[in-house]
Amino acid sequence: MTIHKTDIVIVGAGPAGLFSIFEAGMLKMKCHVIDTLETIGGQCTALYPEKPIYDIPAHPKVLASELIELLEAQAEPFHPVYHLNQQVQKIDKKNDGSFVVETSKNIKIECKAIIIAAGCGAFGPNRPPLENIEQFEGTSIFYSVRNKKEFIDKKVVIAGGGDSAVDWAISLAEIAQKIFVVHRRDKFRCAPESASKMKKLEGEGKIEMIIPFQLEGLEGNDSKLSHVIVKDFENNIKKIEADYLLPFFGLAMELGPIANWGLNLNKNHIEVDRATMQTSQKGIYAVGDIATYSHKLKLILTGFAECASACHDIFKIVFPDQIYHFEYSTSKGIS
Ligand SMILES: Cc1cc2nc3c(=O)[nH]c(=O)nc-3n(C[C@H](O)[C@H](O)[C@H](O)COP(=O)(O)OP(=O)(O)OC[C@H]3O[C@@H](n4cnc5c(N)ncnc54)[C@H](O)[C@@H]3O)c2cc1C
Repeated sequence: MTIHKTDIVIVGAGPAGLFSIFEAGMLKMKCHVIDTLETIGGQCTALYPEKPIYDIPAHPKVLASELIELLEAQAEPFHPVYHLNQQVQKIDKKNDGSFVVETSKNIKIECKAIIIAAGCGAFGPNRPPLENIEQFEGTSIFYSVRNKKEFIDKKVVIAGGGDSAVDWAISLAEIAQKIFVVHRRDKFRCAPESASKMKKLEGEGKIEMIIPFQLEGLEGNDSKLSHVIVKDFENNIKKIEADYLLPFFGLAMELGPIANWGLNLNKNHIEVDRATMQTSQKGIYAVGDIATYSHKLKLILTGFAECASACHDIFKIVFPDQIYHFEYSTSKGIS
């Protein structure tokens, strides 16, 4: 078992976790960051890397993947240590008030404070219950779009009736050979402008609506998909020739081991003191989507401010003998 020592362990490398590294670094506190996923970026990387975000202050428009690259670069001067592809499973409090955090890969990290930036907990896509689906996942079936270019001149089946299904149908219709949208109703849960755009693309022959149908089966060789089979409510079957299937049925969210860490929870979120972001346990803080208080707005920009509040409060735990002076970054620099 590997044992590390640091000032703060950050659970989750989404936007809130990444900005916490910067805020901690400005106060000379070192961080180790742990994430279940293989890459940093949380929801931005895993769910919508190619979507533009419009409500990050001073960025009129920034792709989610670009935002994560910028946050990583902003954190870099403080030399964070990332432990990816592993879940934080256990937190033990020692008699002196410090903690030992343990991951699913048997890594132990001793630290003085913990910031939980775990979003909605361990999240993953809702997978349609289709036989042999694993055979095609990661090659012909994707639950998020990481690289649009992969779909140039391809036949793509998009399944689902929410924003993601509609937005990607519109976006990929520009480059794909043909988009088939499979949905069990003729109503979509999306912005009215998006519904009209999709209708227009249908009129131009770029999108074909397969409604009211549901996914029924898959055909292909090895990991390469050849057909998606769909069925309507009268059991009529259709076979769609396809290179890719993108099912967008929302996210399954699980709090996972966080539920066992003895923190006050409210509907799967961690209750915090809004002034400091401290949870019901001294030394354990929560920021970003996972943290809750009255009138909480689940936005990236809200998470950023919460990281600053948490780190400024943690300073007195990490440096109990030092006097805390508030200083602007313009005075301090990032050395
Ligand atoms: C399609 C879509 C569009 C969006 N658009 C916008 C927008 O325009 N503007 C905006 O402000 N917000 C938007 N959001 C919301 C925004 O993405 C979230 O508010 C933001 O990602 C929350 O950041 P976070 O760091 O708190 O959590 P997350 O991004 O959820 O990251 C949490 C990380 O913690 C990890 N984790 C969880 N449990 C553990 C554990 N036990 N051990 C280790 N790791 C763990 C997860 O794997 C994950 O990587 C959008 C969300 C979606 C899905």
